[in-house]
Amino acid sequence: MATTTCSNCGNPAKANPCEDCVEDSKEMMDEKTLQKALMATLSEAPDDYKSGEALDIEQVRSVRTFQDVGMLTTDAGLLITMKDGSEFQITIVQSRNARG
Ligand SMILES: [Zn+2]
Repeated sequence: MATTTCSNCGNPAKANPCEDCVEDSKEMMDEKTLQKALMATLSEAPDDYKSGEALDIEQVRSVRTFQDVGMLTTDAGLLITMKDGSEFQITIVQSRNARG
């Protein structure tokens, strides 16, 4: 069987990128993944997440991505609207890539 070299890890492989690197990239945290996780956390946090410091989830009216609301930015981020009408933007900027 013909083999090639994975352009990512440099190991001989049957495919490029190799199976290992494809698997790794699925699990890699990126801005969009964090955005999704934050959105779920802010929208659907269970009661036991609540503490003195935690955001009172009952005050949140909606959590939308910058993309959803048509924000003129290429940044990933969330727009959080509270029931009292106040609104907050959380911009997600990845400042370092995963190691390895
Ligand atoms: Zn590889």
